[in-house]
Amino acid sequence: MKVKTSPIICKVEEVRFLTPHICSLSFQTEKPFEFQGGQYINILIPDGSVEKAFSRNYSIATPPEKRPLELCFELVGTGTSYLNRLKPGDTFKIRGPYGEFVFDSNPNRHFCYVGTGSGIGPFRSIAFSSVFQNTHPISVTCILGVENEEEIPYRDELEKFALEKPTHHFIPVLSRPKSKDWKGKQG
Ligand SMILES: Cc1cc2nc3c(=O)[nH]c(=O)nc-3n(C[C@H](O)[C@H](O)[C@H](O)COP(=O)(O)OP(=O)(O)OC[C@H]3O[C@@H](n4cnc5c(N)ncnc54)[C@H](O)[C@@H]3O)c2cc1C
Repeated sequence: MKVKTSPIICKVEEVRFLTPHICSLSFQTEKPFEFQGGQYINILIPDGSVEKAFSRNYSIATPPEKRPLELCFELVGTGTSYLNRLKPGDTFKIRGPYGEFVFDSNPNRHFCYVGTGSGIGPFRSIAFSSVFQNTHPISVTCILGVENEEEIPYRDELEKFALEKPTHHFIPVLSRPKSKDWKGKQG
């Protein structure tokens, strides 16, 4: 059950494009904010008046130890246009954290994550967390579906992660590669 916590005020540090359609929003919280890798927050989106405000959920894309916090979102509609218009220093309100999609730190497991586009957030939050680094699973595989090469968010970082250990695998799968030279997975 989602408990309605009191809103936390956040201050924007940066909004930037990670790919042509995916943005990141980094921000600080006004008061200490604890969460587990893989959890999400609920952002309150003003819509002219308090009564009309609505909300959207976003996974935290940074590990629990890191600040500023970061979200990764695909520009699709009203909520994400609002996030994309935020400027450094602007404030917004969140509730949370929420969600039970968190890392099971049993080291005798294979860890496989499947997502698309901005869905990389929870993987990034988990895979770079200290609990994950300290209780490493037998193998780690991240399969990420995107349209083309340009739409792979955090590509350098994820490729570097995969090179760190022979048990780490990052497998981007493109539905419409731009280049004929794409040698990776397609589907
Ligand atoms: C637990 C959870 C975690 C999530 N984490 C993330 C995350 O990390 N990153 C992320 O990007 N999303 C995430 N989402 C999804 C997110 O909450 C929003 O649903 C998403 O960003 C779309 O919100 P929006 O207001 O921008 O789009 P909306 O305005 O709600 O639009 C939704 C859809 O309707 C279409 N649409 C909107 N307006 C029109 C129109 N006028 N005509 C035709 N079509 C229209 C849009 O193109 C879009 O396909 C998460 C959802 C959940 C439940």
